[in-house]
Amino acid sequence: MSAAVTCPGCRASVPDVAEMREHPYVGSAPGCWLLYSEVLAREYGDLRYTPAHQLTVDAYAVLHPGVPERRTAQSVAIHLVGLCLSLERGRGPGELPRLRQRLAAPKRIFPWLEPPASVGELTITQVHAAETPEADRTLVDRWARSAWEAWSAHHEQVRTWADELG
Ligand SMILES: [Zn+2]
Repeated sequence: MSAAVTCPGCRASVPDVAEMREHPYVGSAPGCWLLYSEVLAREYGDLRYTPAHQLTVDAYAVLHPGVPERRTAQSVAIHLVGLCLSLERGRGPGELPRLRQRLAAPKRIFPWLEPPASVGELTITQVHAAETPEADRTLVDRWARSAWEAWSAHHEQVRTWADELG
């Protein structure tokens, strides 16, 4: 039996795997990062899971904003724009990396957006537990929407950034 800890980012109860190295700037518990890595491995390794990949990356990033610094501010901004483009503007996953790159021009400084008090109804743990590609897709979609909703105080700012991309 392994102990559980609460992830400082998404507040999920995750396995305590303190010996793992934390990601340098994502604000997640190592056990949460481990679950995320396994979800990513499934998305890379099984084409049936691949369509959910972009939303997974964006949702995970905005739920683990970390502490205010240049890189974390940029990460949160870029991934919130990703959610906005996917969920509100119907942009397909294939377009997002290119759009994201255009937004993150070299030396651009994004303001730090204060993270929401509530992180929404779902976390990576439910997505990780999905047993079929269909269940995974539905859960990732709900998870991404709840993450986007959690950041509603900053929607106007994020939409302004999304507008820059046409
Ligand atoms: Zn987490």
